[in-house]
Amino acid sequence: MILILKPNIDVDSREFKRIETHLINYPKIEMRVHHVQGAEQTLTEVYLIGHTAELSLDEMRSFPGVEHVVRVSEEYRILGRHKNDSRPAGFSYQGIEFSQDSLNIFAGLCAVDSPGSVEAMMRALKDNGQVCTRMGAYKPRTSPYSFQGHGANCLPYVFELAGKYGIKVIAMEVTHESHIEEINDALNATGRPTGVMLQIGTRNTQNFELLKNAGRQQEFPVLLKRGFGITLDESLHAAEYLASEGNQKVIFALRGMKTNIGDPHRNMVDFAHVPVVKRLTRMPVCIDPSHSVGSRHRSSDGILDVMHVTAQGVIAGANMILVDFHPDPSVALVDGPQALRLEELPMFLEDVRICREAYERRIANAAK
Ligand code: PEP
Ligand code: MN
Repeated sequence: MILILKPNIDVDSREFKRIETHLINYPKIEMRVHHVQGAEQTLTEVYLIGHTAELSLDEMRSFPGVEHVVRVSEEYRILGRHKNDSRPAGFSYQGIEFSQDSLNIFAGLCAVDSPGSVEAMMRALKDNGQVCTRMGAYKPRTSPYSFQGHGANCLPYVFELAGKYGIKVIAMEVTHESHIEEINDALNATGRPTGVMLQIGTRNTQNFELLKNAGRQQEFPVLLKRGFGITLDESLHAAEYLASEGNQKVIFALRGMKTNIGDPHRNMVDFAHVPVVKRLTRMPVCIDPSHSVGSRHRSSDGILDVMHVTAQGVIAGANMILVDFHPDPSVALVDGPQALRLEELPMFLEDVRICREAYERRIANAAK
């Protein structure tokens, strides 16, 4: 059960103490308090875990500090959608809306290789009206002998250049909790010119200690990739780890599943699950066409496979696109074969706009 408290009620208020005193009578119910930062105010939510069947909805609703009560089903308690659940499906960060209604594009480098590539990428984004990007500093690689990313060393110039080109949010993978601290330190050292969305990659979807650490901090939103070899349910439970530690600013990314049935794509594209995740949870849903397809193959119609699958995700209501670009894919240190070129950015954005418009027309059509 979730108690959503009235906006002005916090844990020090008399109204809160009354709820707390009442719950002492139910020793099998554990209480967890979460603060949810909205655009204008911080809401306090109280999650009641355990034998909540013993509680009456009407009684809990009658407490003066309580605005709304949601009885949750067992699945995805915090991030899930439940009956009569009016909690928002999204959040805002750096003045940008991330919700199940919005669409944000994160085109950028799979891996930061040089200040020159970062600057060329960010200049192209600015020229095309984009304020978000992806920049990998910590790269999980199959072989220990492959380039592992420049790590903390590249953060100062990445953040400074982001400030220079008006980039507001950078999606950046972390593979260890210490990376969160390094990112925070580098942001402080550079005067916080940009924001960061922590990315947890498909190899770490069930790294529960990393999830707990990313969940304990509430400043940075988290982009959680679906695990490439586990069920959707298992990946959604992984997202719940972030929320159960206190961070509800979570976006769920589909990036394809590992199986040779998907050949010749790098992974089996799973973007049919965009509306499924939106139905089951309140998380905005991201698609990663680059890691799904893994190549620059082009269909007989002249359209790249990466763009075809992007279209499939967007027309089904995706809320974010994470896509690899590079000024010169032939020299990229990671995933060059799947990167789009900077000259292709305007065409890519136009293709996305066409698909988004078609999605909006589909919604209007369904509402007739
Ligand atoms: C990435 O986005 O750079 C990445 C490594 O993705 P994934 O975790 O989906 O393989
Ligand atoms: Mn990659």
